[in-house]
Amino acid sequence: LYDSTLSDLKDKIKSYPDFPKEGIIFRDIFSILRDPACLKSVIDLMVAKIEKLKWNDVDVIVGLESRGFILAPLLAVKLNAGFVPIRKKGRLPGVCKEIAYTLEYRSDVLEIQEDSINQGQRVLVIDDLIATGGSLGATCKLLKGLDAKVVGCLVLLELDQLEGSKNVDAPVESLITF
Ligand code: AMP
Repeated sequence: LYDSTLSDLKDKIKSYPDFPKEGIIFRDIFSILRDPACLKSVIDLMVAKIEKLKWNDVDVIVGLESRGFILAPLLAVKLNAGFVPIRKKGRLPGVCKEIAYTLEYRSDVLEIQEDSINQGQRVLVIDDLIATGGSLGATCKLLKGLDAKVVGCLVLLELDQLEGSKNVDAPVESLITF
C-alpha cells in the first residue's frame, strides 16, 4: 500500500518543460496538494518516513521559502514541534543571520531570525524539492551557525541525477525520486 500510494503520487505530479526557463522541467507539487486524499497521503507518508528514520524527536521544523512553508507547518503540528521559516534576505524582522549561496547562474542570500532557535535544539529541515542542493546546503550551514543540531532534511521530490545531497552537510531523504 505504501509503495502504490507513492507511485500514484508520482504519476499525479505534473511536469512543465521549459518553466521557468528553457531546459528546466518544473515539477509542480500543487498538482497533488489540491487533491484532498493526495494532500493527506503526502503528510502521512512524510510523517511515516520521519518516524522510520527516527527523526521525529525534534524541537523545530524549519521550512524554506516558499514551498517549504506549505509542508513544514503541517508536519510540525503532527510532530508537536515548532515552525521556523528561512526566507530570502530582507523579509524577516529583527536580528537575522544570513548566508550567501551560489545557484547555477546567480547568487542569493537566505536569512533566519537569530532568536528563532536555541543552541542545541534538534531541527528537521523541510522543502518541496532538492535539485542542486544549494538551498538545503546553505540552510544547514546557517543552522549550524546557530549551534542547532540538524537531524536531517526531508523533501517531497528529489532530482537524483543532480546528486544535490552531496552539497548538504546533513542526511537528505526524499519521498519521490525523479
Ligand atoms: P536547489 O537549491 O538547486 O536544490 O533548488 C531547490 C529549490 O528550487 C526548491 O526550493 C525548489 O522549489 C526549486 N526548484 C529547483 N528545481 C526545480 C524543479 N525542477 N521543479 C520545481 N522546483 C524546483
